[in-house]
Amino acid sequence: MTAYDYGFDTLAIHAGQDPDPRTGAVVPPIYQTSTYAQDAVGAPRLGYEYSRSGNPTRDALQECLAAIEGGRRGLAFASGLAAEDTLLRAVCRPGDHVVIPGDAYGGTYRLFAKVAENWGLSWTAVPLDDLDQVRAAFRPGVTKMIWAETPTNPLLNIADIAALGGLAHEYDALLVVDNTFASPYLQQPLALGADVVVHSTTKYLGGHSDVVGGALVAASDELGDTLAFHQNAMGAVNGPFDAWLTLRGVKTLGVRMERHCDNAERIVSYLREHRAVSDVLYPGLDSHPGHEVAAKQMQRFGGMVSFRANGGMEKAVEICNRTKLFVLAESLGGIESLIEHPGQMTHLSAAGSALEVPADLVRLSVGIETVDDLLADLEQALG
Ligand SMILES: *Cc1c(COP(=O)(O)O)cnc(C)c1O
Repeated sequence: MTAYDYGFDTLAIHAGQDPDPRTGAVVPPIYQTSTYAQDAVGAPRLGYEYSRSGNPTRDALQECLAAIEGGRRGLAFASGLAAEDTLLRAVCRPGDHVVIPGDAYGGTYRLFAKVAENWGLSWTAVPLDDLDQVRAAFRPGVTKMIWAETPTNPLLNIADIAALGGLAHEYDALLVVDNTFASPYLQQPLALGADVVVHSTTKYLGGHSDVVGGALVAASDELGDTLAFHQNAMGAVNGPFDAWLTLRGVKTLGVRMERHCDNAERIVSYLREHRAVSDVLYPGLDSHPGHEVAAKQMQRFGGMVSFRANGGMEKAVEICNRTKLFVLAESLGGIESLIEHPGQMTHLSAAGSALEVPADLVRLSVGIETVDDLLADLEQALG
């Protein structure tokens, strides 16, 4: 299936997933093989030689990811960070500069600050919702990309993708968008002017908290070819079973996201009225500073909700320790609801830095359980 004029859910279920030509298997098989028999020297069947370079299960996932992001080329990796590292080293050279979000995902920040910097890449962290600061950070000819995330983790700040794309292109730089939090169902960065989308497929795309993976989707064939070369040359690919699990998750992305959003909206309304909560952070709220931009570029506002507890860190930690259905765990985007205290869990490494998060902050990854059960769990935990 190559047509791109199908609806999102049709692409998620069918793109890259034609029935297996040999057996008719409706689901792409797990090609758990490292190498492939060749009919003669230099004549591999169907072009497959070795599974780092190519594997039919991974290809199925990659084609599907390209289709649902509206891109020219999809590439799958062993993790989100493996995808990010491959992208950085495919596009940047020592001496180059990158603009990153002031509140980047912790692992992304660490990749820039502790790994890429040693390799000669410099970076400036700025709040991406302030375009004047983004422009001021630009070093024409040296800055090779703006790296954006929207919504961000865990404060759910919003960046204007179209505006950042315009700015990046003025300086012949690329706009990279980490679309992990929104998922392509809710937000299509390439259509808004981004050059490449990054995913931790570990989150909503996989959707079941059972596989770690990453992806890049390029808007152009040229960038797609460069990234594909580096995927093979650097070798951070995912295995066939992981690719298969991720593809199985992607099929239901649309229905899952609708339910994540429904449940999150109910929980946001509940939390706003609760005396134990001082503030609710959700881009769907009129009071959220990024609401207008979010409403312009997102279909709905997602399943991630953060709130600040009345009573400071002690109360926030107590709430996290008391939930029963909301599992106390890092990560996000799975069907089961999770709760965490960013200050002492996902964002502990940011303590004392510009990325430090408020101590009374609680983050929810709202799952797709029966919402009344989730509300009852929060009710007993908030006390
Ligand atoms: C989890 C995450 C990553 C990193 O992905 P891994 O699969 O854990 O390597 C990158 N960006 C965001 C926004 C994430 O949530």
